[in-house]
Amino acid sequence: MISVEEALGILLSDLPERKIEQIPFKSALGRVLAEDLVATSDIPPFNRSAVDGYAVLAADVEEAPVELAVSGESRAGAGMPGTLRPGEAVAIMTGAPIPDGADCVQMIEQCQVSDNGQKVTVLRPVKARENIAPRASEARAGDAVLESGHRIGPAEIAVMATFGYQQASVYKKPAVAILATGDELVEYDRQPRPDQIRNSNAYCLASQLRYMDIEADYLGIARDDKEELRQKMLLGLERDILIITGGVSMGEYDFVQDVFHHLGLEILFSKVAIKPGKPTVFARRGDRLVFGLPGNPISALVTFECFVRPVLGRLCGMRRPELPRMKGELLADMKQSPGRMAFMPAWVSWQEDGWKVEPLPWKSSADIIGFTGANATFIFPKNRDFLSRGETVELMLLPDFFARQRETE
Ligand code: AMP
Ligand code: MG
Repeated sequence: MISVEEALGILLSDLPERKIEQIPFKSALGRVLAEDLVATSDIPPFNRSAVDGYAVLAADVEEAPVELAVSGESRAGAGMPGTLRPGEAVAIMTGAPIPDGADCVQMIEQCQVSDNGQKVTVLRPVKARENIAPRASEARAGDAVLESGHRIGPAEIAVMATFGYQQASVYKKPAVAILATGDELVEYDRQPRPDQIRNSNAYCLASQLRYMDIEADYLGIARDDKEELRQKMLLGLERDILIITGGVSMGEYDFVQDVFHHLGLEILFSKVAIKPGKPTVFARRGDRLVFGLPGNPISALVTFECFVRPVLGRLCGMRRPELPRMKGELLADMKQSPGRMAFMPAWVSWQEDGWKVEPLPWKSSADIIGFTGANATFIFPKNRDFLSRGETVELMLLPDFFARQRETE
């Protein structure tokens, strides 16, 4: 059995090449740039006023208050203003070009207009360059502004609009398929027989994928039958990544690994020292990656976050797609049988003196209901059998950590 770290090492050591596509820049939110973007013009394109006020010469207002003749106006978007001569002031608006000859702007709050707008008294001195954003002070044409590998958020969309990039070259999202397995499974819209349960993993995994902005193809439920598994897996192997749940443990009817062999998949690992999720399998055929996640609902959820996310995120171009880790203070004593790194459901909250970790009662790795109260998992190190209240533990935050709230908060 390999450790979680070793499993991650195998997963990330030889990833298939990432694919690239061109998409409209407006659709690029959340994607990762696959090219460097350069400034196509100077920004600002002219010396720009940062305030509403009067453009003047600093030397003219050294002895303020000083009265100056208003020689014109510079409005944003109303053409380039004329030249300012010593002794003059030009009324100017935020975002408008500074007239040649002026070297600073005094804000309107420090100016008193008189003579029907013909004169202005500048009440306080201003330093040269004050309240001016010089041409090209944010970017010069040809400067690299966004590097390949940069994730696109709202500000990056604004940068693309600023420079007129209508298309963006981004990493393509891998095509993902989900396959549930098990004779006992029926779909959510069926009434299970007394010996059956409804398939929940497929929908949980599809939702976890959606948090990564990936819409998966769902291939349905394969019975515990080698031929049916083979057929469905072949369909799955048409995608970049196939995620299977169930059928990977040591039971009499756990055929997934047999079928992997049969289909010529190379099994890179088939047991990891993780709790929950020990029977996790990772296999590969060429560029096609296959994850066999355990059928227990929390095992499937946790192993997706620990093993599938780091791979998928990297294929999408992300540098560090792992869920965020941080530390917090455990609020209760905890026991476990050592030997596996355990991810335990917890509610993590900020209190005056730091992050507090309240372990949630959980019955087993099947107890998905117990997991609904969690916003994080805390990590029970593999070599420990006891953690005391007050100890600092490592946390892995769930993807919607910041969106989750308790009714009392
Ligand atoms: P397995 O990994 O196939 O041995 O399944 C382990 C446990 O998870 C069994 O109790 C299964 O009934 C349950 N299970 C397997 N697949 C699913 C699924 N898609 N949804 C909910 N429970 C499942
Ligand atoms: Mg099964």
